Amino acid sequence: MMERQQVIDTAEKYYLPVFGRQQLVLDHGRGAHVWDKDGREYIDFLAGIAVNSLGYAHPAQVRAIAEQAGKLCHCSNIFYTEIQAKAAELVCQVSGMDRVFFANSGAEANEGALKLARKYGTGKSPDKFRIITAKMSFHGRTMATLTATGQPHYQEGYAPLPGGYEYVPYGDIAALEKLMDGNVCAVLLEPIQGEGGVHVPSYDYLSKVRELCDKFDAILIFDEIQTGVGRTGAWFEYMNAGVKPDVLTFAKGIGGGFPVGGFAVPEKLARVFKPGDHGGTFGGNALAMASVYATLSTIKEEDLVAQAREKGVYFKGKLEDLALKYPEKIREVRGRGLILGVETTKPAAPILQMCLDQGVIVNVTVGNVVRLVPPLVVTKADIDKAVLALDNAFAKF
Ligand SMILES: *Cc1c(COP(=O)(O)O)cnc(C)c1O
Repeated sequence: MMERQQVIDTAEKYYLPVFGRQQLVLDHGRGAHVWDKDGREYIDFLAGIAVNSLGYAHPAQVRAIAEQAGKLCHCSNIFYTEIQAKAAELVCQVSGMDRVFFANSGAEANEGALKLARKYGTGKSPDKFRIITAKMSFHGRTMATLTATGQPHYQEGYAPLPGGYEYVPYGDIAALEKLMDGNVCAVLLEPIQGEGGVHVPSYDYLSKVRELCDKFDAILIFDEIQTGVGRTGAWFEYMNAGVKPDVLTFAKGIGGGFPVGGFAVPEKLARVFKPGDHGGTFGGNALAMASVYATLSTIKEEDLVAQAREKGVYFKGKLEDLALKYPEKIREVRGRGLILGVETTKPAAPILQMCLDQGVIVNVTVGNVVRLVPPLVVTKADIDKAVLALDNAFAKF
């Protein structure tokens, strides 16, 4: 068994140094709580970045993965498995879509959606390839998805980038309207921007984007990789907005910690890809599907979507109280359900460390937004503890 420092040293020696990591070696968890190698307990308001919907080691998920692993982890997609069929049906049910494709990550989910949009557009006219995304968006780190990501620093050093991508300020319908024409094949947006700092647009904006896409026969892709699977108090945020996309991408929370992503479409787009046009060795893997099925069934059984909504209102209210208490330190509280952001007036890194010292894991995105994306199973008592830790941190900040 390695000591804590030995783990860090070994990882630092052998792993590519692409991550800025906390000096924390996590070992095991239960619900929204996680323990490090020295037995120190933390309440986790990051949840693997909005991934661990059921928290850690939920018995239903553990059982489903173990049982599936004992039967068959993987077989090629040239065969059927019962668990993949069941997971596909359940994802369609909860997403309000008709067909699904499974991949292994968020980036891959968006890659598939962008390919589908290109196929759709160029099938109508060779010039219908333009893809519009938002500034401050985040869509992944593959070549196409980092190009779709409207933050130049993710793109630096990777030129030449795939062509045909253009960017508009998020929430600005006039800017989008100016760029729209018949050669746009897709508009790709997060219905709430996550990595970009938890920015919530108006529902009116999203519904006008929908109208523009309809007008120009462009595919509206909602990237719900971070907002989806109950986090915003609906199965998917598009349901809160009342604006249905043509393609819905998901990942993070859907596998409850298992790496899985994908996209879903209505029947009218079910045949844009012909057999052989898209695929993947691992996507829809039996072990991943067991985790998806268990995660979604448990969210249903434990009514975690409604709980995310209710706990989100409670949490946001407490954070707004903090904003009133520290008006010179907190600029704004944003978000919906259990994706909340506290924008600070100066770099927020010290908040992260001060919370960690009090046994609460939080995250900072874009430098000055404390992002809070706990497991959906987080309790009000946990929320109270996190708010207290934040209160103590802001007092010293
Ligand atoms: C995390 C994220 C992605 C990328 O997912 P990966 O699994 O890291 O590839 C894409 N879009 C959004 C909105 C995300 O939050």
